[in-house]
Amino acid sequence: TEKNVIMDETAIRRALSRIAHEILEKNKGIENCLLIGIRTRGVYLAQRIAERIKEIEGIDIPYGELDITHYRDDREEDGSSREAKDQAMNKSTLTITSDSTGSTSIHDKKVILFDDVLYTGRTIRAAMDALMDCGRPRMIQLAVLADRGHRELPIRPDYIGKNVPTSRHEQIEVALTEYDGKDEVYIISN
Ligand code: 5GP
Ligand code: MG
Repeated sequence: TEKNVIMDETAIRRALSRIAHEILEKNKGIENCLLIGIRTRGVYLAQRIAERIKEIEGIDIPYGELDITHYRDDREEDGSSREAKDQAMNKSTLTITSDSTGSTSIHDKKVILFDDVLYTGRTIRAAMDALMDCGRPRMIQLAVLADRGHRELPIRPDYIGKNVPTSRHEQIEVALTEYDGKDEVYIISN
């Protein structure tokens, strides 16, 4: 097993700063924007971007978290079929902190989804389904720390920390300080 660092603390900080600026530029500010992190590590990414935007613009941006059953997070084969895993992903819970008007609705919001790693795109599809069940967002955008390729659905991120071409048997390991005690992204090849 070979483990190589592809992003260190500085690289992660710079990528997230860039993404914060890209979000502000693309949306011409953050009016009506709502950041939603996909558990677990997407939540910390969304929080960091919210902090960065507060530093840059002086405005609090509402954020929330989406918990999609974690099947796709453990990449090991657990014996259950892909169909069973896709079914499990259809169960999810959405929690949103209220904005300045006290609203926790996604109706008419520009929702920006955050995840640590994008792979086949099935988690994001499930996330979009879960969101649409809660209302009709004006638009949905996607931000990921690492895009490792191998998409199985027509899903493309709007904001990318780093493109990481991988083979299917390689894995990306994401460590974030809030959860893992340090900031680092590795690629693991067996
Ligand atoms: P997808 O649903 O696009 O196949 O996989 C994306 C989801 O599975 C994300 O929530 C991500 O956290 C997790 N994931 C997929 N591949 C990897 C990987 O190589 N490393 C890590 N850390 N997570 C992955
Ligand atoms: Mg995940």
